Amino acid sequence: LLSLDAVTVRFGGRAVLDAVDLDVAEHEVVCVLGPSGSGKSTLLRVVAGLQPLSGGRVLLDGRDQSGVPAHRRGVGLMFQDHQLFPQRDVGANVAFGLRMHGVAKGERDAEAGQLLDLVGLPGAGRRAVASLSGGEQQRVALARALAPRPRLLMLDEPLGQLDRSLRERLVVELRQLFGRLGTTVLAVTHDQGEAFALADRVVVMRDGRIAQSGTPLEVWQRPADAFVARFLGFDN
Ligand code: ATP
Ligand code: MG
Repeated sequence: LLSLDAVTVRFGGRAVLDAVDLDVAEHEVVCVLGPSGSGKSTLLRVVAGLQPLSGGRVLLDGRDQSGVPAHRRGVGLMFQDHQLFPQRDVGANVAFGLRMHGVAKGERDAEAGQLLDLVGLPGAGRRAVASLSGGEQQRVALARALAPRPRLLMLDEPLGQLDRSLRERLVVELRQLFGRLGTTVLAVTHDQGEAFALADRVVVMRDGRIAQSGTPLEVWQRPADAFVARFLGFDN
């Protein structure tokens, strides 16, 4: 579904992504791990069409996406700081992406209602965003990212601000949800446990490069190098 071919992004001469090659298959759930500043968010922004390339190519279904604007790529992105519209109610936030796609009002409301059921917030459509807890807001952001039914859903620290028990529950729910919808997922996380529970494949980034890519078990049992081992918390 997705291929990155020697994708490079430079800011002021420094390569934040350095000739990254990555393939994501249809229905695959891939989690990107790596230290702060290693280029994880930039990677998602490149695929979403929000960050121009300095070199290389992004392909979706084998088609080069250069010049294809973000809203035409059929990908969804949930931002690191979920960026809900605080002055709009929950339903309007979820329906936002559908409105961008020209879906009629009645249909938007129905679809938003279904998505809120899906993320475990039934009947929350008329509530004010500010009246929701942090975890509920993250669910709303997730529903908003899912609304246009993207084939590829990208999540940047989707459970970032939540406590451990809520994360653990949501990871299980998300895993089931993605399976049910057949969504392909590329998710960034700081939390190894989350990555290992959610992902078919884990990608570890270091300084704009992929240090290792493999199943959670492979990466855990056979870290590619000392960096990956240290990052996973092994002492040597
Ligand atoms: P975190 O885990 O903290 O979210 P990250 O892996 O997502 O980190 P990125 O946001 O991809 O990191 O940033 C990678 C590097 O690129 C950082 O050093 C950052 O300062 C730099 N960077 C990102 N965007 C820009 C920009 N628009 N201009 C200059 N530098 C940038
Ligand atoms: Mg980031």
